[in-house]
Amino acid sequence: MPFELPNLDYSYDALEPHIDKRTMEIHHGKHHAGYTSKLNAALEGTGHEEKSIDDLMSTMDVNNGAIRNNGGGYFNHCLFWKSMSSNGGGLPSGSLSAAIDRDFGSYENFKNAFSKAAATQFGSGWAWLCVHDGGKLEVCATANQDNPLMPGIGCGGKPILGIDVWEHAYYLNYQNRRPDYIEAFFNVLNWEEVQKRFDS
Ligand code: MN
Repeated sequence: MPFELPNLDYSYDALEPHIDKRTMEIHHGKHHAGYTSKLNAALEGTGHEEKSIDDLMSTMDVNNGAIRNNGGGYFNHCLFWKSMSSNGGGLPSGSLSAAIDRDFGSYENFKNAFSKAAATQFGSGWAWLCVHDGGKLEVCATANQDNPLMPGIGCGGKPILGIDVWEHAYYLNYQNRRPDYIEAFFNVLNWEEVQKRFDS
């Protein structure tokens, strides 16, 4: 089955004023849709068409640029939309909060590390909160549409939270002020979803 552009769990204007409606329309309806159709085209005839997106990421030949860029673009944005909610913000709780305290020292330290990774990623890319086998958390950043599921890329953990720092994610509203966008992201961050991914 070809991959499909997922519907959002919220409307394009649901994340305002933190993420504006026009950015969401273009980001989901054009950018993510583009990665989806180009991924399907790149997979045709490769024998990898039946793989799940997670499996496709973790078994990828990173020298295949079309699958790496568009497959990464597909996976990353699916995770990104779920990482946000109109009821987002607040703080992590439960086992995730405890793991953050254990591995970063405090929530503030985690937030600083994640924000710094996102702000200092040179050019286009993503910052991630990842979980390793055994539950240890780590922050890392990757370039372009790469992600830590890809062999030899990033910290090698499983991403449970990601922020898109391509200019297309924030430029209409924030222009060059990437740190303001990163701060705003925390106001829509869907910790319930991150907790679910941490638990699984
Ligand atoms: Mn994007």
